[in-house]
Amino acid sequence: MANEPEYDVVIVGGGAAGLAASIYAVRAMLKTLVIEKMAIGGQILYTGEIENYPGFPEPIGGPELAMLYQKQAERFGVEFKYDLIASLDVEGPVKNVIGHEGQYTAKTVIVASGGEHNKLGVPGEEEFSGRGVSYCATCDGNFFKDMDVTVVGGGDAAMDEGTYLTRMTKSVTVVHRRDELRASKILQQRAFANPKMEFIWDTAVEEIKGNGDVNGLVLKNLKTGEVSERPTEGVFIYIGFHPVNDYLRESLKIDAAGHVVSDLQMSTSVPGVFTAGDVRQHSDRQLANAVGDGVAAALAAYRYISAA
Ligand code: NAP
Repeated sequence: MANEPEYDVVIVGGGAAGLAASIYAVRAMLKTLVIEKMAIGGQILYTGEIENYPGFPEPIGGPELAMLYQKQAERFGVEFKYDLIASLDVEGPVKNVIGHEGQYTAKTVIVASGGEHNKLGVPGEEEFSGRGVSYCATCDGNFFKDMDVTVVGGGDAAMDEGTYLTRMTKSVTVVHRRDELRASKILQQRAFANPKMEFIWDTAVEEIKGNGDVNGLVLKNLKTGEVSERPTEGVFIYIGFHPVNDYLRESLKIDAAGHVVSDLQMSTSVPGVFTAGDVRQHSDRQLANAVGDGVAAALAAYRYISAA
């Protein structure tokens, strides 16, 4: 039939939420497509080691876990496509997911596009991106062997990745805008106990300087107003992230922070469209939550299709 959609479920986003949803959807005998813009795995690809995911008493590397998710999904017959989604046309019974490379039709859509790292927005950040400025210790850490690097931020990501960087670098200086960390206590304790880590408090990065590659920072003490320069060979920026929602703003209800509004069954403002993971309102932004959301969204999609 001309109007018959190609898939039962199209999942936008190949991170933990999307992959978990895909495994549950395909095992419910739903024809399932995952569309990912860059690399399967999402945020966990940027995580050196994961040690709070139940079932793994020893830490597991983020990229390694991502590979396992993908392998499991493929084993059950999930299809994957690489495309950047531009918009959704989801009001009718046949949902149309419109990408730059193609259009994908489905009975249901699961929006699991996650989040992206925030940028500092200071001079030098763009210019030296990939030449000393990084948002991914796992990807780039090895370029900084025996060097002095800086981590910006005071959350879990900054502490986790800062600690990871001490394995290969000479030193890691954390620059944080307040005088206490936001990170969980266990990560704080580990960072404070690490002899290679030091902390600069109440301080903002005003500029990233370099000559070809990064060679220093202009720092401002936010309490005294004092401005100083400090040499560094790399800057890893971990100052939170924002939901990826540009393609869905016109179609789904989002909250003030840009997260997709949903209920506990992962239903969005549009019937047949579900959400999961970091893009969702009230997400705890933890791996296990993303997986749980994905499962709930797949089950909701299954119920929606069965009831039609
Ligand atoms: P986050 O928890 O939002 O922390 C962001 C940090 O960056 C905060 O310390 C914040 O300072 C600082 N910051 C924000 N904007 C800034 C700016 N413009 N200039 C300078 N500093 C700025 O983000 P995250 O660390 O990326 O973590 C995000 C989520 O992922 C969290 O829910 C976290 O628990 C989770 N996560 C968990 C783990 C883990 O469990 N091992 C690892 C990574 C991430 P203030 O403190 O002053 O606001």
